[in-house]
Amino acid sequence: MAGLAKPFFGGNWKMNHGPTAARAFVETFTPLCPARDDRTVVFFPPAISLTEFKRAAAKRRDLQLGVQDVYWEPEGAFTGSISAALAKDAGARFVLAGHSERRHVFGDSDEDVARKVRAIADEGLIPVLCVGERLEERERGDVETVVRRQVDQGLSPLAREAITDTVIAYEPVWAIGTGRTASPEDATAVHLLIRGLLVDRVGADAARGIPIIYGGSVKPANIDELLGAPEIDGVLVGGASLSAGDFARICSAAPR
Ligand code: PGA
Repeated sequence: MAGLAKPFFGGNWKMNHGPTAARAFVETFTPLCPARDDRTVVFFPPAISLTEFKRAAAKRRDLQLGVQDVYWEPEGAFTGSISAALAKDAGARFVLAGHSERRHVFGDSDEDVARKVRAIADEGLIPVLCVGERLEERERGDVETVVRRQVDQGLSPLAREAITDTVIAYEPVWAIGTGRTASPEDATAVHLLIRGLLVDRVGADAARGIPIIYGGSVKPANIDELLGAPEIDGVLVGGASLSAGDFARICSAAPR
């Protein structure tokens, strides 16, 4: 931890846990993870499970909600998509933008991600801009070029104040769902680069308030080491967030 933000724990369920499973998850998770005001816990269920999650967790206002993606238009004939306005109406406060699966499975370009970031911020929601290099880019020594481009383009539509209301997630593609975690040192190096890019845009003080979180095979066994690293303000968890027990253990980790 280095920033001023509270530690951030995000659970990205991807295409898992429909409404029935979401309700069962909340019933198991809530007693394992009592409310605390010294951390931010955000779930990104499939959009179709949002309402049921909210209903099941009605007594837990500390548990916040987000969606995994939105289209940039506010409404209209866009079969299969949801907008930031619809996500907000359903109770979302955060939205992932540019998750690697959106970039690499669905072909979202940097321009698409920027349009989404603008649509999310315009709706008063908090974009969680996801960036990270692929294995071949790391091996070519292109980590800095790729991350810089993704951060520059992703934040390009935002004014200074809007940038202070974002979260940046560094998720090296080769660490997502693979069991390979970036070492705390490797993650720290990239988080420092991102912090520098934020300082250029909003100044040092404001930049320290923007959470820069790490994602990629985070689990109970490595959470302490990751949160202990300078510059890692929290985590975005995929696979391990599907288990109420594992995610409760992760969210209970004490930052350094
Ligand atoms: P993982 O996914 O924890 O399963 O590696 C992380 C993510 O995609 O956000």
